[in-house]
Amino acid sequence: MLELDKVDTNYGVVAMLRDVSFKVEAGEVVCVLGPNGAGKTTTFRAISGLLPLAGGRIRIMGQELAATRTEALSALGIGFVPEGRRLFADISVRDNIRLGFEAQRAEGRFADRLEAMLELFPRVRERISQRAGTLSGGEQAMVALARALIGAPKLVIMDEPSLGLSPKLIDEYFDTVAEINRRGTTVLLIEQNAETALSIAHRGIMLVKGRVVASGKASELLENDAVRHLYL
Ligand code: ATP
Repeated sequence: MLELDKVDTNYGVVAMLRDVSFKVEAGEVVCVLGPNGAGKTTTFRAISGLLPLAGGRIRIMGQELAATRTEALSALGIGFVPEGRRLFADISVRDNIRLGFEAQRAEGRFADRLEAMLELFPRVRERISQRAGTLSGGEQAMVALARALIGAPKLVIMDEPSLGLSPKLIDEYFDTVAEINRRGTTVLLIEQNAETALSIAHRGIMLVKGRVVASGKASELLENDAVRHLYL
């Protein structure tokens, strides 16, 4: 589904990612962990085509990222949950989700697809006609996830979705992510919240200062010294 091969990125003259390689196979939940400033959002931006690569390559759904424009990625069957949700506050929850449907050029009728999906998001259903800006942080997080899923993407890429949520909401959120994976969606989860992310992930990668310092099965990473030292 996704392969990063020796990826380098720079911010001006400053190196950020260096030699970052990992794969996400169909059906997996893979998490990218790392402390503040490790390069997690930079990884998200590189995969989204928002940041040019200084070296290496990214293949996504079998295509070379360099040949794929950012706006075409959604239509390839990829859902994005950006850091901070990035909802449009002044339009309704329904219209926010509709934008995901349009971006993913999904088939079928929006109303039918929405109805089927809201089964997973009861709280979003209650708020469907409200302006998105009036929702709580937890509800907004669910709307951003619903927007990413509305076109039934094959792969969803999330950047720190649990940021700012209470522990109870974090558990609820990750339960939903695990459920969408069980229903067939592959997930790349970029997260600071290592223990919870690893509890639903099959595999993980840990970044520190733009480099991969550990990778492996989720159960192995929970035992890894570098991960335990930084997080657990
Ligand atoms: P956090 O959890 O704090 O969001 P992160 O792992 O997502 O951390 P990044 O946002 O990828 O980290 O940032 C990695 C490094 O790159 C940081 O040192 C950051 O200050 C720097 N950086 C991020 N964006 C830019 C930019 N536009 N120009 C210059 N430096 C940047």
